Amino acid sequence: MKCVVCGVESENRYCARCGRVMADIVNTVGEERWNKIDDCAYIYPSVLRVARGELTVTDIVQFLEEED
Ligand SMILES: [Zn+2]
Repeated sequence: MKCVVCGVESENRYCARCGRVMADIVNTVGEERWNKIDDCAYIYPSVLRVARGELTVTDIVQFLEEED
């Protein structure tokens, strides 16, 4: 299968690089709150930018907080 974030071949839903960013986001936001987000696909472009070093996990978390 392919990484849902960046599209590279991956054994899991997320490749190692994107998976690390996603894990950081979930840790920061908290599992409970994360599970309330129905569709997190809209943050994937931002996740990709974190993986590239253009954004930080904190930026995404702030973005999620504004959505609340
Ligand atoms: Zn990826």
